[in-house]
Amino acid sequence: MGSLTLTLVFLYAVSTVSCTPFINQLQPGQEWPTRSSVKQPYHQFDAVENEPKPNVAELKTAATDVEKEIIPDENTPEDPLAETVDRIDYSGAQVWKVSIEDVQVQRIIKRLTSDKLIESWGGNHSSLDIFIKPKALENVTAEFKNGDITYDIMIEDLQQRIDEENPPLDENELELQDRRGHRMTWKQYHRLDDIHGFLDYLAKTYPSIISVNSIGKSYEGRDLKMLRISDGKAGNKAVFIDGGIHAREWISPAVVTYFINQFAENFDVESDDIKNIDWYFLPVVNPDGYEYTHRSDRLWRKNRKYGLGISTCTGADLNRNFGYRWGGKGSSGYPCSDIYRGSGPFSEPETKAISEFFKNTAAKFSAYLTYHSYGQYLLYPWGYDNALPADHKDLDSVGNQMAEAIRKTGGSQYKVGSSSGLLYPAAGGSDDWAKSLGIKYTYTIELSDTGRYGFVLPASYIEPVARENLAALRVLASQV
Ligand SMILES: [Zn+2]
Repeated sequence: MGSLTLTLVFLYAVSTVSCTPFINQLQPGQEWPTRSSVKQPYHQFDAVENEPKPNVAELKTAATDVEKEIIPDENTPEDPLAETVDRIDYSGAQVWKVSIEDVQVQRIIKRLTSDKLIESWGGNHSSLDIFIKPKALENVTAEFKNGDITYDIMIEDLQQRIDEENPPLDENELELQDRRGHRMTWKQYHRLDDIHGFLDYLAKTYPSIISVNSIGKSYEGRDLKMLRISDGKAGNKAVFIDGGIHAREWISPAVVTYFINQFAENFDVESDDIKNIDWYFLPVVNPDGYEYTHRSDRLWRKNRKYGLGISTCTGADLNRNFGYRWGGKGSSGYPCSDIYRGSGPFSEPETKAISEFFKNTAAKFSAYLTYHSYGQYLLYPWGYDNALPADHKDLDSVGNQMAEAIRKTGGSQYKVGSSSGLLYPAAGGSDDWAKSLGIKYTYTIELSDTGRYGFVLPASYIEPVARENLAALRVLASQV
């Protein structure tokens, strides 16, 4: 460890231990500070940046973070090649949409999947989007020809789509970015630092209504930053919104941060429906996976927890790891699977942090929205099996009103139904768990599109997708 590192570690430790602003007396998960209950600290920005007094083990982790994060940034400019050197190339890979109503077709798809020639990108009872690696194309084409299976090629060269997905900002945007005080835009998919910097900026700029807290750490030690918007009125309802459970679904954190921006920047003129709610946003549930999709593998889905024991495979599917009916249908016990459920309910630090937050919070949540992509669905429980909650008619009715708002605003068609009924059973999802806590309006929202771009939705779609979904969110706010 160099002397500069030691100095930084020391400074970090001193600043962390000595500054105990008012806001830090509240543990994450307890009722957050509001204008009426807690005096706001003068330096809100410092306050949200600092953690509560850490123990020795935490300091060690912090020291590692400082070594990892600060030293390269401050001394050696980041080598752009280092970002790309181990990047997975999807040149020649394709995505097809296949009609699967025929039992014979289902059988062939199942065999090709277990032979690892194809992977499912998602689908419903009538069609499936399949991803095919270049070296499997010849084989799969022949199999489909033999089986007389028809299909549409949705993506002819996946790498080309990836290369075109997230173009750099134009000069106007770059200039605006410099003046704005944060780097976030909705014209580009941003890295985690930009997203977290944006949340901190808002907490600093609007301390009377906005606070940011880390509800825990990811496996690799990144903060799970949650932002709360509230005018502190007693009797407010509470709504929880998360994004980015699945790493590759970039449109999700983009849409959730769009909502945050809208409410934060316009709170004074927002409707009473919006102001009478305490909003809790966790835009990136899976920060390790999210960064990994930017750095290495655009199509990574799970978190980045190292495989233990005999498994060398990394990561669990966080949306199979929640603790209600964990381990059931539509999840896998095989660590290399993309739907690996983890070693037990809440075995992953990211889901554990969410469950702890809900255990300790004083907020009374009446809605839980979790944003995913893709497919354009508004899904309500149950997901674990083909069953419906007692109040499913209410969920269906509000869901349909939300879908109607989306259609009126942007023209997109979203289907509404239970996730097991409309799609397929999948146990261990966050929506089922939230519903099991008694949160009435619980939805998984699968954002655009329906397969033309799939997970690799161009950044130019962020604003239209976010706008129409904001209309749906307003409908929800009027109903909770
Ligand atoms: Zn997802």
